[in-house]
Amino acid sequence: MYDFAVVGVGPAGARFARRAAEAGYDVVAFEKGTVGTPLACSGHVSTDIWEYVPEESKDRLLQNRVYGANFRVGGPGTRAYPFYKSQEVSNVVDRIELDRTLADCAREAGADVRERHTVTGIDERHDGVELTVSAAGETLSVEAKMVAGCDGPVSRVRRAVGLPEPGETLHGVLAFDDDPDDGDFVDVHLTVPRFFAWRIPRGDAGVEYGLAAPPGAEVNEMFDALTDAYDVETDHFCSGAIPIGPPDRVTTRRAFLVGDAAAQTKPFTGGGILYGMTAADRAVSTISPDDPATLRDYESAWREELQSEIALGHWIRRAYSLPESVQKLGLRSLSGEIAVHMDKPTSFFSREHLGKLVGR
Ligand SMILES: Cc1cc2nc3c(=O)[nH]c(=O)nc-3n(C[C@H](O)[C@H](O)[C@H](O)COP(=O)(O)OP(=O)(O)OC[C@H]3O[C@@H](n4cnc5c(N)ncnc54)[C@H](O)[C@@H]3O)c2cc1C
Repeated sequence: MYDFAVVGVGPAGARFARRAAEAGYDVVAFEKGTVGTPLACSGHVSTDIWEYVPEESKDRLLQNRVYGANFRVGGPGTRAYPFYKSQEVSNVVDRIELDRTLADCAREAGADVRERHTVTGIDERHDGVELTVSAAGETLSVEAKMVAGCDGPVSRVRRAVGLPEPGETLHGVLAFDDDPDDGDFVDVHLTVPRFFAWRIPRGDAGVEYGLAAPPGAEVNEMFDALTDAYDVETDHFCSGAIPIGPPDRVTTRRAFLVGDAAAQTKPFTGGGILYGMTAADRAVSTISPDDPATLRDYESAWREELQSEIALGHWIRRAYSLPESVQKLGLRSLSGEIAVHMDKPTSFFSREHLGKLVGR
């Protein structure tokens, strides 16, 4: 019997598998496809990402350095409100290669990472879990003391063990134009209901255009309007779900969720790569597979780390739905050089920023 069976080898699953194996646990991890595919992510992350991958992988993964964002209430050509720093704020990384690198780290740490293995059933028992896994036309049965549901926004583990669905799921789309662009700024357009559209320069990999919106919004039409306004043709169109939380509970007796499965994302950007890996680290430091009571420690630990950031992220997101005149006023007052960490909205509420807002 394994200590942990991990379902899903995205950033959260790979990180959990790596850290759990390094802690001496016997870990098996199943990925239904090949790690990193299909792509449905911008890979726009804070520079904290480099703490999670080997130093030597940086040249291969880094596509562009970003120093700020131009916010606009309208489309391209309307007034830009720049927010920037003198040092890089964030990086654009090759998301497929990032996932492969994280999975390699898990393998090197001793986790048994198996691609093209789909978990089709989870039977939670008093003393462990039994997974049904389908691979190459065969069905395997795998036993573990605990299961880590790291299987993304539409989590099968979450459903199988009866944990709550995320409060909201956004629909994100993106596509690429091949023209190289190593510009320093991303563009953010507050032209989408309750969220935003973006343009991200990705160095030699071209330019990414994308947006996310709540269910019911005409995402494809809005995407066409965005690329028409920029007068670009895009290809490699991708689409994915962005869960917004936090849910009330992400653990049962023998199962726990990490990453998008647990809606551990930033409500004001949809980003979840670093929150998922942060939560994975908390899971490894708190959970003992022999003691289900430790799952309560994981519930407290990840919330302690991320819950206030998520709560403030919800407040920031409310600004996307304010009347245009109020948005312009707010953007005008706050724009300029900032000292904000993109994963930590609490850093928006520094004395310096509040002073700016009240005109000091
Ligand atoms: C359009 C868009 C843009 C985004 N841009 C950013 C961004 O710029 N920065 C950022 O931080 N975040 C971004 N995100 C969010 C980011 O992609 C997720 O937060 C992140 O991928 C979550 O990682 P994860 O490991 O929890 O889940 P995932 O990356 O979804 O990995 C889950 C894995 O589980 C596998 N799986 C699912 N079911 C099974 C099963 N039954 N058996 C075996 N394997 C299974 C899947 O194949 C997948 O590989 C974006 C999302 C979207 C949709």
